[in-house]
Amino acid sequence: MNAPVPHPPAIRTTCPYCGVGCGILAKPDADGGAGIAGDPAHPANFGRLCSKGTALGETLGLTGRLLHPMVRQPDGALARADWDTALDRVADGFKRIVDRNGPDAVAFYLSGQLLTEDYYVANKLMKGFIGSANVDTNSRLCMASSVAGHRRAFGADTVPGVYADLDQADLIVLVGSNAAWCHPVLFQRIVRNRRERGARIVVIDPRRTATAEEANLFLPVAPGMDTALFCGLLTHLADTGTLDYGYINAHTDGFAAALARAREIAPDIGRAAAATGLAHDDVARFFELFRTTSRTVTCFSQGVNQSAQGTDKVNAIINCHLATGRIGRPGMGPFSLTGQPNAMGGREVGGLANQLAAHMGFTPAEIDRVRRFWNAPHMAEREGLKAVQMFEAIGRGEIKALWVMATNPAVSLPRAGAVRETLKKLELFVVSDNVLANDTMDVGVHVALPAAAWGEKDGTVTNSERRMSRQRAFLPRPGDSMPDWWIVTQVAARMGFADAFAYRVAADVFREHAALSCFENDGSRDFDIGGLADLGDAHYDALDPTQWPVPRGEQRSPQRFFARGDFFTPDRKARFVAPKPPAPRGALSARYPFRLNNGRVRDQWHTMTRSGTSPRLAAHCPEPFVAIHPSDGRAAGLTDGGFAEVATLHGSIVLKVVFDAGQRAGSLFVPIHWSGATASMARVCELVAPETDPFSGQPEAKATPAAIAPVTFRFRGFVVTRQPAELPPGTWWARLAVAGDAGTLFATNDAPPAWRAHAQRLFGPAVELAEYADEPRHIYRVAAFAGGRLEGCLFVAPVDAAPPWETIAASFDSANLSSPERRVLLSGRSAHGLAESGPLVCTCFGVGLAAIRDAIATRAAANVEDIGRALKAGTNCGSCLPELKRIMNERVAPP
Ligand code: SF4
Repeated sequence: MNAPVPHPPAIRTTCPYCGVGCGILAKPDADGGAGIAGDPAHPANFGRLCSKGTALGETLGLTGRLLHPMVRQPDGALARADWDTALDRVADGFKRIVDRNGPDAVAFYLSGQLLTEDYYVANKLMKGFIGSANVDTNSRLCMASSVAGHRRAFGADTVPGVYADLDQADLIVLVGSNAAWCHPVLFQRIVRNRRERGARIVVIDPRRTATAEEANLFLPVAPGMDTALFCGLLTHLADTGTLDYGYINAHTDGFAAALARAREIAPDIGRAAAATGLAHDDVARFFELFRTTSRTVTCFSQGVNQSAQGTDKVNAIINCHLATGRIGRPGMGPFSLTGQPNAMGGREVGGLANQLAAHMGFTPAEIDRVRRFWNAPHMAEREGLKAVQMFEAIGRGEIKALWVMATNPAVSLPRAGAVRETLKKLELFVVSDNVLANDTMDVGVHVALPAAAWGEKDGTVTNSERRMSRQRAFLPRPGDSMPDWWIVTQVAARMGFADAFAYRVAADVFREHAALSCFENDGSRDFDIGGLADLGDAHYDALDPTQWPVPRGEQRSPQRFFARGDFFTPDRKARFVAPKPPAPRGALSARYPFRLNNGRVRDQWHTMTRSGTSPRLAAHCPEPFVAIHPSDGRAAGLTDGGFAEVATLHGSIVLKVVFDAGQRAGSLFVPIHWSGATASMARVCELVAPETDPFSGQPEAKATPAAIAPVTFRFRGFVVTRQPAELPPGTWWARLAVAGDAGTLFATNDAPPAWRAHAQRLFGPAVELAEYADEPRHIYRVAAFAGGRLEGCLFVAPVDAAPPWETIAASFDSANLSSPERRVLLSGRSAHGLAESGPLVCTCFGVGLAAIRDAIATRAAANVEDIGRALKAGTNCGSCLPELKRIMNERVAPP
């Protein structure tokens, strides 16, 4: 009898997506994948995961992975190379340009997806050894205004509170945050507090998002007017005797000027309401809730940060908490919800161009301290260029070498089209990434370096509540891929800095990072993890999620900051900041009468290089769209489900139209996720103006003046193939994952006969084609079989008879289809007899909109709980609960 095969233990690691930082148990399987579950012991999620985290197991395949170094050859082709060749090319190129043009002629552009150890060595190489501070990161697009706001108010980039505050608060205010979709596990924690303790939730957002479905009060603030609302609140708190003068006098400075400015901007409820476009009674109710609720947490995210006045917005919020002394105590405080998994870790090591390292800046004393600690030969003496300015400097020819790590700026930066042109000017363009191709690499990368991906590398990440968690490898590294920190150290060694970069393992880097945090730190710097500086390799491997600060010795570290003042300014007092009067950048005009907003959808992440490989996640929002209020849409001649061109001064894209009554009149919303690799014309950042906040350098992503006009396609269709299908020029298309295959949804004005010819080219002669053509009705369907196995299909029909791709896609598994099943497939129904599901709502249990509406119509479900009992929808991760609520409300609303 064979001995039982031992099951490998589950590895504790951390989700690679958002800043909630959920703990994960990953259990490798025999097929090279892994089972994924929430870690019940992780204090960020206590075992819960959202739809994205739950589907991580579907994203571990090697399709499309960059597995070997690639180097551009003299003939212009990219060819596989060994590590030595690729690293020499990078190091020699950087050295040549630095020697010839000086250190500011080179730059690194990093990512909140990197681990802290990766970030640390990249920052050290550029700022201490090359001698420039041209290191910036995609966190500039995400959190830079929070960083700047924290530093102005607290003297340091300190998040005062912890997640437990969201359990203990009696009022939670969410500003510019669609937490239901962007921080789902944390949002469900907030909802639980409301359900179990009766906490009230106020949502402040120009859009009525899924988050607003759970709000006691929703305030659809006019774009960019958050500062006016919080100035009105400060005025109201002062006028109603709610201020904590004991705290103000003992621990703060600048209150009088901030209050005077607040009175100028919003002297009373009426004028706050007028400035923000809100109803007087709603503003009064919000102010009253805030006034009467000591335990208040104000969470803010990209709707606040991604603004040309984002830093002032952050400070207007912080002012209200300082003035009431509601900070650093259980259930109280301003709380920045971080977008990316390790934006916080990047901030800790100095990943931003205006930080040095370990939360130090560019004062002479700090430069000298870091120089001595690193024994750095070429210390950067001043701040570097922030993201937008960095790419402008490339455009002017001032920066000649760029190394992009783990991010896709050709999609995500403002005026992304211009960024792509800019990248072509580089003398040396290096990318380290997991993927073989993306919009950035496709511009003409000179050296592509294969980085290890999530599940293959070791290090730490820090979440929104300052909790450092280990990401651990649970899969072997494929091909020649290596961790980012290793790649940087090899380049550093080739540039002559081997001794300073002689790390053996990630733990070596972490110990040095921890040692720097406490180096000459007499308590004047918030970031201190000196207590971890002597961690042995085994202890590093076993490190439990740990919140900073972790000072050396017996000293007890505070869980929260600032309850008794002690800020990180020279006089240890916080600073009130008098914000500028708010005014959206970019005037609307007859040509561009809308404000273009952008953001995330529930089940996708960034440019979809990982989340886009999951069929389950793809089914929620399969196509790039523009959401518009129905009255605006009708006035513009659009139809719900039709198509529109969205244009700004910087370009135009074509998207599916979604009428959304939650959309504010006069504004448009487009998701950020689609790139040139996943859609024909949907890169929304192409349209975004490069306006930046004067303090943080963060671009205004939410309010570019825009126009919208209808676009007509007569036919809709889809293709499912083993490999991504190329479609004829002029076709509108969007790619999505289908189990084991590649799906492409398309719209066209080419009639079915043209598609019949295309199908024959697409599938080739080696397969058997089963066709259905209804020429009078312009319907054409073809399925390709090889040995009875379904190899692909192409369906096209007039728009009003569009084929139900969700149902057909379900037929794409490895099963052979019988003749009757083939006929059923060609009739436009599931070959397996599945009912038409409609767009997916519950990712965990694959429940579509049609099934939910059916349950409501047949009275099988009278509320969200009934839907859960009948269909299981919403009973696992809870990410879809707000949508279920919205669907339920639609059905019970009066006609
Ligand atoms: S909320 Fe979801 S995406 Fe964010 S860390 Fe948790 S599982 Fe990952």
